[in-house]
Amino acid sequence: MTTKMRGLGPSSKLTKIEATILNRIYTLKTLGTRVIFCWVRGHSRIMGNHAADTQANGALTLPDSPPSPDFPQTDLKRPIGAKMKNQWVEDFHAYNGGETYKQRFPRTHLQPWFKQVTENMPKTFYRTVTRLRSGHSCCNSNLYRMHLVESPACRACGQLEETNEHIVLECPEYSQARVSLLRGLQKMILNPFNLDSIMAADNVKVNVLIFNFTQTINIRIYINVNYK
Ligand SMILES: [Zn+2]
Repeated sequence: MTTKMRGLGPSSKLTKIEATILNRIYTLKTLGTRVIFCWVRGHSRIMGNHAADTQANGALTLPDSPPSPDFPQTDLKRPIGAKMKNQWVEDFHAYNGGETYKQRFPRTHLQPWFKQVTENMPKTFYRTVTRLRSGHSCCNSNLYRMHLVESPACRACGQLEETNEHIVLECPEYSQARVSLLRGLQKMILNPFNLDSIMAADNVKVNVLIFNFTQTINIRIYINVNYK
């Protein structure tokens, strides 16, 4: 132990017992107690050894003695992980809000959606897709609901309510740019064909197609145009 203490560094690996001993030594030192290690010859008729045994046995009966598990602590890793995941799923579904997101993505994943992305995409791709997944984009319909614009009308065609669905699938002003988007989507999205099912596909290729479309029509749905 003393040899190990001399060579201790930030990356030193300690057993639980060694760590506990070091912790006790540190505590005693901070209280001003001098700690000395000395070799004690074993066993019987050595007064110090009997005193140590008495102290050790007495410690077992202390009311605040921590219970010592009869299995390795690493055995707890899996059940604790499973319990925490179940708790997280329960909290996710019990949360009062995010209904669009919960409806589109009822299954919870351990990894965020962008971990599937293998291509080198710009930051604006992640911002655009994240906004579309949750429905919290800066389309005029959302901005109007928050009293940030005077009208929910589409900035391109001016006639209808500018929702995410309108921008991506409906606005006649973007029909030319939408040709390649629809050609790509129809290979991957089955009925029903709407923005909910498109986003719920959770497919990187689909998300890239939609991002490219927003680039073509030059709409940055993650930025409120009135606060540029
Ligand atoms: Zn429009």
